[in-house]
Amino acid sequence: MIDLPCLECPNEQAEFVTGAVIYPHRPELADKKAWRCSACGAYVGCHPGTVEPLGRPAGPKTREARQYVHQVFDPLWREAWRGYPAAAKRRHVQSLARTRCYAWLADQMSLTADECHTGMFTIEQCRQAYRLLKNTTYADIREWAKARKKETT
Ligand SMILES: [Zn+2]
Repeated sequence: MIDLPCLECPNEQAEFVTGAVIYPHRPELADKKAWRCSACGAYVGCHPGTVEPLGRPAGPKTREARQYVHQVFDPLWREAWRGYPAAAKRRHVQSLARTRCYAWLADQMSLTADECHTGMFTIEQCRQAYRLLKNTTYADIREWAKARKKETT
């Protein structure tokens, strides 16, 4: 058993379930893996191919808010390669950009790297993240990352 309290009812521990429990009417999702709070039904998925939870189990409103955060977060790093020379490897740039975007967001929200994942966010943190991400560009984050590197070296 791992220690995984429900985000919505912190006294409850989540338990491991499959998609058959979470999506009883979606047989094609029966093999999915998740951690679920049996008290309120909040859940969180797992890292692909593992039983490791992506964060803390959350109810429908928080899960929806997390999706909104991804809608503004993902394009930032996915499109980052456009600002680089044509020869730059797209996947490499995206991977670097994703790390930078998470580091930037953690800094803005005063979170550690471990805490700064949408799967960990409460609904309030989702709103905060959404506002921050909506009002920035990857070019800004890149400048921030470069300035920070200069400070520490
Ligand atoms: Zn719960």
